[in-house]
Amino acid sequence: MHATSILGDNVGLLDVIDLVKYFPIRKGVFGRIVGYVRAVDHVTFSIGENETFALVGESGSGKTTTAKCILGLLKPTSGKIVFMGKNIVELKGSEAKWYRRNVQAVFQNPFLSLNPRMKVEDIVAEPLKVHNKDLPKDEVKKIVYDVLERVGLTKALAKRYPYDLSGGQAQRVAIARAIVLKPKLVVLDEPTSALDVSVQAQILNLLVDLKNELKLSYLMISHDLSVVRYISDWVAVMYLGKIVELAPTEELFEKPLHPYTQALLSAVPEPDPKIMKSKKRIVLPGEPPSAINPPPGCRLHPRCPYAKDKCRVEEPKLIEYERNHWVACHLYTRR
Ligand code: SF4
Repeated sequence: MHATSILGDNVGLLDVIDLVKYFPIRKGVFGRIVGYVRAVDHVTFSIGENETFALVGESGSGKTTTAKCILGLLKPTSGKIVFMGKNIVELKGSEAKWYRRNVQAVFQNPFLSLNPRMKVEDIVAEPLKVHNKDLPKDEVKKIVYDVLERVGLTKALAKRYPYDLSGGQAQRVAIARAIVLKPKLVVLDEPTSALDVSVQAQILNLLVDLKNELKLSYLMISHDLSVVRYISDWVAVMYLGKIVELAPTEELFEKPLHPYTQALLSAVPEPDPKIMKSKKRIVLPGEPPSAINPPPGCRLHPRCPYAKDKCRVEEPKLIEYERNHWVACHLYTRR
């Protein structure tokens, strides 16, 4: 990502510009709109070629809704999602098909995302058949078997059904299906959180290898900061529908600026017990407020230990506090 492209002229592989997604709340027999859930509220970021960009935050932060808008599963209320120069919100026909081919997804629970009535080889072949109708059968088979081998699955598994697979094997099938069309961007929605810890590392290593080999870009959606640190180049932290901090991964982990990011990182376990013991846990009081009626000013102010009068009335803007390090908090002013 080019940080200047957050609000400037540079174009990434995918630019999300001022994205808004509100869900109307209806009441009464006539379905009158009485309010909105402000799930995603003016979010802007950019993903470059061969980069992994992570969106992190608690549930309800808006990260999954953002991903669904990018995947075309939800229509944005406003804003643009620009992929290779084209606003995908406006794409139709062959251009929409071109986009679906180039942007694939791997979801949290592979057993829910794989058709239980299809064999593994048919699951992986399906996107090829949809997008390359004229491809000969033996060519399809060759591609499918090559991809299965690439994700670490044997030929014997190709004839099985999803219920006959382990969680790790099923997620490898989901990854094979996602890469079989050689996409440019893969959305990874908590791809390891439903797996055993022993399998998580194998899947993460596979994703890293595939990224390098196929020059993929990833949008990673996760609440697991250890996973994010391992796999991502950039991290954006979301709170109640807003990005509150955005930086290169190591910069964010070494020097978190926003009080919410500091609290999130303080809860990440350390492998070294000595470091873990000396680590000070920051616990923000209360729960995140409702996205139906978010607090005025800074949305964190009811829970923030540093809140001052200004925080209660004025919403902080996302500013580039240091080169490539963006934060939305009144504790920081542009240098
Ligand atoms: Fe805390 Fe104020 Fe910064 Fe919000 S703007 S995070 S309330 S200090």
